[in-house]
Amino acid sequence: MNGTTTTAATAGDTTTGAVLSAEGLHRAYGRGAGAVPALRGVSAAFAPGTFTAVMGPSGSGKTTLLHCLAGMDRPTSGSVRWGDTEIAGLPERRLAELRRARVGFVFQSFNLMPAMTAAQNVELPGRLAGRPPARTEVREALARVGLAGRERHRPGQLSGGQQQRVAIARALVSRPEVLFADEPTGALDRATGREILGLLRTGVDVDGRTCVMVTHDPAAAEFADRVLLLADGLLIDELLRPTAARVAERLSALGG
Ligand code: ADP
Ligand code: MG
Repeated sequence: MNGTTTTAATAGDTTTGAVLSAEGLHRAYGRGAGAVPALRGVSAAFAPGTFTAVMGPSGSGKTTLLHCLAGMDRPTSGSVRWGDTEIAGLPERRLAELRRARVGFVFQSFNLMPAMTAAQNVELPGRLAGRPPARTEVREALARVGLAGRERHRPGQLSGGQQQRVAIARALVSRPEVLFADEPTGALDRATGREILGLLRTGVDVDGRTCVMVTHDPAAAEFADRVLLLADGLLIDELLRPTAARVAERLSALGG
């Protein structure tokens, strides 16, 4: 817009300061009379170094929102910006390149390759993109999530919490500005889940990363700086400095 180039080192939209923003996002599945509206006009901005939890009843559009914000799904209309860059109209190749440099994604079910070692899983996205990370970068990424010395373990030889740590290392090895996580603790017991949430929180506090996480769990939302509440594809509320009690109360009022 004003001619400046945004890079990973100079995160943030020069006008709003947001590292990530959405304006009027609509996403419908299918066409015509049978179309299902998953998002019906969502706008939100995410400041650098903040942790946001996205909550709402099942089917309210949380995953769709995360996928649109992360450039993994195309909105039917509306805008998504990463810093100054509008990603909505970008060709697939350019989007994939930018996505690899700027965002990471963690799934509920880890999505690791079972036949590969932890180190091979971490380097896979870069290898597929023709830019494999250096062995020291892979080792450091695993060490940062507490898995030093586990480089050669396969997912089947690791606990659920350790597998999610591998997935986080894989998402972070390219040092993205924004980490997305869709119910990252959904498959873990409570104590292990809290360790993973602590890891995400530390990334925000120490590394200045921006984190956007979908969760069902009011206790998990407490790790975030704010909660965005979705219902029926609309953003209906924002809770700042959420406590588990306040979040639980707000969710039960929604019937979710
Ligand atoms: P949440 O993550 O909050 O449970 P989703 O974003 O997964 O919600 O889904 C929002 C709405 O969009 C739901 O009504 C869901 O059934 C619908 N939906 C999601 N993905 C698809 C798809 N691939 N095809 C058709 N409908 C979908
Ligand atoms: Mg979902």
